[in-house]
Amino acid sequence: MDTIKSIDYPVFFNDTLTQLVNLIEKGNYSRFFILTDEHTGEHCLPLLQSHLEHLNDKYDVIEVSAGEESKNIDFCSGIWKMLIDFGADRHSLMINLGGGVIGDMGGFAASTYKRGIDFVQVPTTLLSQVDASVGGKTGIDFDNLKNIIGTFTQPKAVFIEPTFLQTLPQRQILSGYAEMLKHGLIQDAVYWNQLKEQGISNGAPAPELIHRSVAIKNNVVVNDPFEKGFRKCLNFGHTVGHAVETYSLQNDDGKHITHGEAVAIGMICEAWLSHKKAGLSAEELSEIATVLNNLYPKYDLDESCYTLLHSLMKTDKKNQNGFVNCTLLNKIGECSIDHICTEEELCDSLRYYAT
Ligand code: NAD
Ligand code: ZN
Repeated sequence: MDTIKSIDYPVFFNDTLTQLVNLIEKGNYSRFFILTDEHTGEHCLPLLQSHLEHLNDKYDVIEVSAGEESKNIDFCSGIWKMLIDFGADRHSLMINLGGGVIGDMGGFAASTYKRGIDFVQVPTTLLSQVDASVGGKTGIDFDNLKNIIGTFTQPKAVFIEPTFLQTLPQRQILSGYAEMLKHGLIQDAVYWNQLKEQGISNGAPAPELIHRSVAIKNNVVVNDPFEKGFRKCLNFGHTVGHAVETYSLQNDDGKHITHGEAVAIGMICEAWLSHKKAGLSAEELSEIATVLNNLYPKYDLDESCYTLLHSLMKTDKKNQNGFVNCTLLNKIGECSIDHICTEEELCDSLRYYAT
């Protein structure tokens, strides 16, 4: 599989860990630091370390607790503190070995430490491989707001190693798979059909499918690195999806859903809106809903939560002037941005999902 050229860095797919060692050696770094969480420290670090035996005295490992709860200023301060204690200078390298939490927070810590040190992304979840690791968004959550503090800083390189997915729980695989389906829906009908046919049985998608997804995301971010317009096409499923995700996190019923599960619900609702407002045919709407309903568990969203969900959509940071803006599909494989949707339309789309 070809290396993908992103904004100003490569995304490697073959011999990735050897390529990473090459980058460390050629970069002449004074020291390097591997950031992990407790799960990637257990499942992914040993494989990486087996490539680094000749560099044992050149690096330290920094481990944080797993999960979104760690993506905050306290853990970030902990990383800065460790970098200081380990004597990291401006010529240090940070290796972010983990999912989107590690990639976002490690990228942010690196991009601000001593006004910025080099970092690379070694994404270990499907979601971070096909979505979070390309595009240069780094950040942390703050004051109960997701990704509210951060920078646009590009990594030196991204290394997509399929082996890491072997230990990833199936629910996390499905979470990332929702973004792959989204990539097909917004940009590539042939790819959507491939995903429908090959799918995932009990394991990860084929590396070639992951490669295609990264290529689609990369093409979008290369054309709009600072999210001025075109990049909004990646928001398909996310206006309703983010509201549902936040609602499930706030709702103390213990049924928290993954990002991908929320986006799958969002894609069904926004496919319905696409049919009403953007030209998606009834047949394609029904095809999308069937594929997603077969893959993802039904989440209970009754009328009583629609007002709250709508107010969450209105406060989405991607909206302007209090209108709810959606990216919709004109057909499978083609989308358009900036469709203003009314409360009534959004509630009807939730009703479509619920029935
Ligand atoms: P995550 O990093 O929390 O990983 C999910 C879980 O899987 C964690 O418990 C983690 O420890 C575990 N894990 C990771 N790799 C593993 C492996 N190989 N084997 C076993 N367990 C493993 O979450 P995520 O879903 O990868 O990422 C979500 C985060 O990504 C969110 O914070 C989101 O805001 C961010 N994100 C960023 C971008 C971006 O453009 N920067 C895009 C999408 C999402
Ligand atoms: Zn997403």
